[in-house]
Amino acid sequence: MTVTEQILALFEARGGEEYFGEAVSQLEHALQCGTLAQEARAPAELVVASLLHDIGHLLHEEGEDAAQRGLDTRHEEDGDRWLATRFPPSVTEPVRLHVAAKRYLCAREAEYLLALSPASKLSLELQGGPMSEDEASEFEANPFYAEAVRLRRWDDQAKVVDLKTPDMASFAVLIDEVLS
Ligand code: FE
Repeated sequence: MTVTEQILALFEARGGEEYFGEAVSQLEHALQCGTLAQEARAPAELVVASLLHDIGHLLHEEGEDAAQRGLDTRHEEDGDRWLATRFPPSVTEPVRLHVAAKRYLCAREAEYLLALSPASKLSLELQGGPMSEDEASEFEANPFYAEAVRLRRWDDQAKVVDLKTPDMASFAVLIDEVLS
């Protein structure tokens, strides 16, 4: 199986799972996030990163309600590990940093924190809460910090019930392009 086929199979098998605490599925969330990146004319690597940023959730077996049970599954690290053997850092780094980007934005923008969904506020606490000033400055030194922040904002918006988007197969060409 090619990497693209593996991705399609993974979403086929588990994409119907709930995007924890939200009214959309993992597949819908991924497609909405990838579509937002595409509409913003982001580079192919960042579109693919947006599409696959929560792939870690499809790789673990903790169940959909992990956060409600007080568990941080560290899905960004599982996703990063899986992607790292297959994709360049321009894809894997924004994925690895997308939870840190939320903690960063909470430290930098008071409105950002207030606008988070209830489920996202709950997981924030498990993820360590807003960054300290030092952590935020350190985060800005990461070469992929700006990409991670862009991805994060699309991530937060990608929770619209019944939104029409292109399907996973229509992103296959883009995934292949980034892989080659
Ligand atoms: Fe997400």
